[in-house]
This record gives sequence, structure tokens and C-alpha cells, in this order.
Amino acid sequence: LQGDRTAEEFFTGMLHKKLTATLLKMAGIRLATPMKEIPEEKIHAYYNLCRNLKLHITESNPYENAQVSAGGVDVREIKPTMESKICPGVYFAGEILDVDGRCGGYNLQWAWSSGYLAGYHAALA
Ligand SMILES: Cc1cc2nc3c(=O)[nH]c(=O)nc-3n(C[C@H](O)[C@H](O)[C@H](O)COP(=O)(O)OP(=O)(O)OC[C@H]3O[C@@H](n4cnc5c(N)ncnc54)[C@H](O)[C@@H]3O)c2cc1C
Repeated sequence: LQGDRTAEEFFTGMLHKKLTATLLKMAGIRLATPMKEIPEEKIHAYYNLCRNLKLHITESNPYENAQVSAGGVDVREIKPTMESKICPGVYFAGEILDVDGRCGGYNLQWAWSSGYLAGYHAALA
């Protein structure tokens, strides 16, 4: 039954778990409270926070924590074989190209896939 689920269980998924926990606390809802015990006005307070909360970002994590770099060789300057159109015989792969993705394996996959292509075609040349 949905009403037996805790507030944390019920709401996690719509937003990131850590953000859900913070907003629930701000709305005065304990994470372990079953949904059926939460007064409607508190649920409205939670939804209002979800819709209207404005955050002022003061800083990001330091460079030492960076996981991917943006910028690099323009992909319009390489062939599907990963060979440079500008400098024939040079093959690129991975982060040296101007390709970056969100965290979640996309950058590693790009490095492996483009590395395979570049190596394969360089060996054929
Ligand atoms: C802490 C951290 C966590 C990450 N987590 C994830 C993740 O969870 N998922 C994801 O998808 N991506 C993640 N990434 C990004 C991902 O690891 C990179 O996008 C990917 O490894 C890039 O591969 P690459 O081969 O292009 O470059 P690199 O892996 O950086 O390889 C370049 C290599 O070239 C060598 N090199 C540099 N200069 C020279 C030189 N002059 N001569 C010879 N060799 C040289 C370097 O030593 C290095 O071994 C993470 C990155 C970091 C730093």
C-alpha cells in the first residue's frame, strides 16, 4: 500500500535521493514517517519546495575532483575512422576530442569505442 511507504521511499525517484531527503526535512517531514500519517499541508509544503526552491550556487568542487574535460579537437575535423581530416595519418580517440558526457559511463564508453575505431583504422592504413 502506498500509504505504508515511508516519505523517503515514496518520493525518491522524482528527484535525486539526497535532494528528496533535504526537501522533506525542509518541509518538516521525517524521512521514516509513513505517507498515511503526513498531513496534507506538509505534502503541499514539500511540493512547493520542489517547484519554487531557488538555490544560489556559491562554488563548485575543486579541479582535483574533476572527472572529465570539455573542449578539444573539433569532431567536424575528423573522419568516421577517427583520422584527422587536417593531418592525415593522425588518429584521435577519447577526451582529446571535443566530446564530453554526463557521469555514468558515457565518457569511458566514448574512450573505449573511439579508441577501438582509431586503433583499428590506424592498423589498416
Ligand atoms: C576521478 C575520475 C572519475 C571518473 N569517473 C568516470 C565514470 O564514472 N564514468 C565515465 O564514463 N567516465 C569517468 N571519468 C572520465 C573517464 O575516465 C575519461 O573520460 C576517460 O578515461 C578518458 O580516456 P582517454 O583515453 O581519452 O584519456 P586518459 O584515460 O586520460 O588517458 C590518457 C593517457 O595518456 C597518457 N599521457 C598523457 N600525456 C602523455 C604523453 N605526453 N606521452 C605519453 N602518454 C601520455 C596519460 O598518462 C594517460 O594514461 C572519470 C575521470 C576521473 C578523473
